[in-house]
Amino acid sequence: MKDGIHPEFKPAVIKCACGNVIETHTTKGDINVEICSKCHPFYTGKQKLIDTGGRVDRFNRRFNKADK
Ligand SMILES: [Zn+2]
Repeated sequence: MKDGIHPEFKPAVIKCACGNVIETHTTKGDINVEICSKCHPFYTGKQKLIDTGGRVDRFNRRFNKADK
């Protein structure tokens, strides 16, 4: 590796909203995320609806309106 052209690559902690903590290395420092492999429905196999601000509700209303 050449000196001076690479960003600093250091240990970092990624914290998820579900409480899961992942230790890794990044150039950005600590990261906070809302979803991770521990709580994402795809990995947990559970169907959990993450509806932020009634977006699903709004979509359903719009879809029903267009259907009529
Ligand atoms: Zn998580």
